[in-house]
Formats: sequence, structure tokens, C-alpha cells
Amino acid sequence: MKERIAIYPGSFDPVTEGHLEIIRRSSKLFDKIIVVVMTNYRKTGLYAFSVEERMELIRKCTGDLSNVSVDSYMGLLADYAKAKNATAIVKGLRAVSDFEDEFQQALVNKKLNEEVETVFLAASSEHMFLSSSMIKQICQLGGDITPFVPGEIKNEIIEKLKKG
Ligand code: ADP
Repeated sequence: MKERIAIYPGSFDPVTEGHLEIIRRSSKLFDKIIVVVMTNYRKTGLYAFSVEERMELIRKCTGDLSNVSVDSYMGLLADYAKAKNATAIVKGLRAVSDFEDEFQQALVNKKLNEEVETVFLAASSEHMFLSSSMIKQICQLGGDITPFVPGEIKNEIIEKLKKG
């Protein structure tokens, strides 16, 4: 049977426990997961972490998952999916507010690449409220981000955000 490859795209600026949970759950559903740090040229300069830093943070907390790899891409996700022979795009859904935009993106991606299916995983109740921007805000205001980011990368995130 054909290998089932899924891609999980996002900004991951930085990766959170919410993202990691989606990566873990999807790694059980597919043969391979490629976590793709998407770089949006309109947003360059708005990210707190460089693409390389974001990729490295994801690598550090997914080292125990042998079918997960990390990549970056600038361009159309549908083209990336085609190039990687991906059968699915994984998205995490936190709340109704995520839905409209994600639904629109799923329809567009289906038009651009018929081979790819968007699969939505519902966020868990613990991570429902978590976003990268919330982590940045808490950290910049001196709050404790321990419950929200993977333990092995917490200090790196704090150091970087303090400097920023
Ligand atoms: P954000 O900056 O809002 O955290 P990203 O672009 O990095 O978002 O998110 C990538 C993907 O992960 C999206 O599909 C997003 O809906 C999903 N996601 C983000 N945070 C969570 C969370 N806490 N729980 C589940 N899915 C999430």
C-alpha cells in the first residue's frame, strides 16, 4: 500500500504544547508526518524566531517520534503537498474562530491539488486556548510559560524572547 504522508503546516513561532499534541496524535494516524514551518513573505520581520530557530525547536521536542520530520517552505502549500506526495494536510482546530479561515484554506487547497485531503484534529480542552502569540505575550510580561511549552525548549524560548 502507498505510504500515507501527511504535512502539518504552521508558523510555529514558537512551537507550543498544543502543536506538539497535534504532532503526536497525527503521527499515530499516518506513516510519516512532515512538520512544515511556513514562511510568509508578507510577514517577514514579524516573527520572533527565525525559520532555522523554529525548525530546531520543533526538532528538539519531536526527537522521540521516528516518523516525524521537520522542513520549511515558502510558497503554495498545495504545491508543497504535491512535491512530497502527501495525502493529507493536518490542521488543529481550537475553536469556532479557527474554523472559517481553515475551511476556506481547505477548499482552496482541494481546488489546487485534488490529491490532498485536509484533516482537522480537535484541540484538547487543556490546549484549546493556547497560541504562539499568547506564549510571547506571557513571556514578555514576565509570566511563567512552563505549562504551555515543551520542557526541553522552555529556556531557549525564554532567552530569545527576553532579548527580543
Ligand atoms: P498559532 O500561531 O495561532 O499558534 P500556527 O500557525 O503556528 O498558529 O498553527 C499551526 C496549526 O496548529 C494550525 O492548524 C493551528 O490551528 C494549530 N494549532 C495552533 N495551536 C493549537 C493548539 N493549542 N491546539 C491545537 N491546534 C493548534
